[in-house]
Amino acid sequence: MNAKLETGATTRPVTRQTFDDVLVPTYAPAAMVPVRASGLDLWDQNGKHYLDFTSGIAVSSLGHCNPALVAALTAQLNNVWHLGNGYTNEPVLRLALALTEATFADRAFFCNSGAEANEGALKLARKYAHTKFGPHKSRIISCLSSFHGRTLFTVSVGGQPKYTEGFEPLPQEINHIPYNDIDAARAAIGDDVCAVIVEPIQGEGGVIPGDPAYLKALRELCDQTGALLIFDEVQSGVGRTGALYAYMDKGVTPDILTSAKALGNGYPIGAMLTTNEIAAHFGVGSHGTTYGGNPLAATVALNVLETINQPAFLARVKEASDKIFAKLRKLAADYPQVFGEVRGSGLLIGLPVAEAFKGRAKDITKAAEALGLMLLIAGTDVVRFAPALIVTDAQIDEADRILRAAVDGMLNAAPAK
Ligand SMILES: *Cc1c(COP(=O)(O)O)cnc(C)c1O
Repeated sequence: MNAKLETGATTRPVTRQTFDDVLVPTYAPAAMVPVRASGLDLWDQNGKHYLDFTSGIAVSSLGHCNPALVAALTAQLNNVWHLGNGYTNEPVLRLALALTEATFADRAFFCNSGAEANEGALKLARKYAHTKFGPHKSRIISCLSSFHGRTLFTVSVGGQPKYTEGFEPLPQEINHIPYNDIDAARAAIGDDVCAVIVEPIQGEGGVIPGDPAYLKALRELCDQTGALLIFDEVQSGVGRTGALYAYMDKGVTPDILTSAKALGNGYPIGAMLTTNEIAAHFGVGSHGTTYGGNPLAATVALNVLETINQPAFLARVKEASDKIFAKLRKLAADYPQVFGEVRGSGLLIGLPVAEAFKGRAKDITKAAEALGLMLLIAGTDVVRFAPALIVTDAQIDEADRILRAAVDGMLNAAPAK
């Protein structure tokens, strides 16, 4: 028996203060502690209700505690949890078949997070170029203000210097270019480049859609130089933009695609998808992870994929998107002193703040949260909306009502000049 369990450690009272006392202070979580959630509804320790328009940062796309996912996971929990890579398992085989049938890819590698999926993609691109062209072809091109994860390799590839400061020495041969700038890409992508990694829509960097002509130009430059084009669809993937993957709407096919976040609806899983030819450069022992593709994660992801990859489901995402865009355009028109022009794709939406509110996106989401609406930010100047893809019209109306009340409250407290 576990002595700790007998002493009541599992039921000991905890509060938000406990975070400050015993967690490594890498985050500044909200003052309230969520304890229960269903769909887009969430309740904190005091029983207060919130409408969740964050879906855990574009993760829980089918809603919290989705009953079909709970049933599938529960069944698998009573079959087998974990095997290790000496054995494969039925759920991961089915998931790999489903993902490769649904996308350009022939093969999948599974891991546990977006950063790991990108780490695998970048390592594979280096390995591919190394064996096919030689060690001189090692340069990686990435975009400024991009985000690719928090391992040392992925923060170095990401285009946000604040995430690498103090962690030097960093992996070498990585250059950053401005996003959506074709001339800069042409100048940077030479014969020594092994990979170009890009988000089809930048999420953390402020919800900035990639220009299809730009992505097409990257494709051509990669074809000309033998570099691999990696699409980081960790945030944009699995229905978030109204396509199963954003590349499908952009008319550009990558060589490697990374997926995570919504793939597991909150159960950790990441995937790297690629072609037969490229995958062949990762042989037995080249790369791996203990938990990647375990039966629990694979079961959830398979059910997520089968639910989202339906024409009617994806059509509804676009319909809900149109509805939110219309609401936010009206909001920005009614409050020009607070908001700029809404942007994004599907249900990944950014509402930048106006000049008078520069740096205050967080204040807006805090005010909304106090009134029962959970929102995200993307940087300090953009309010980000990423509700579950199952959001209803009534929930969109309610979010609009609460956000307006929150903004009114801020303006009454301290009128903008
Ligand atoms: C969230 C995110 C990542 C990192 O995913 P983790 O699961 O946090 O490691 C990578 N790329 C993009 C585009 C993301 O949005």
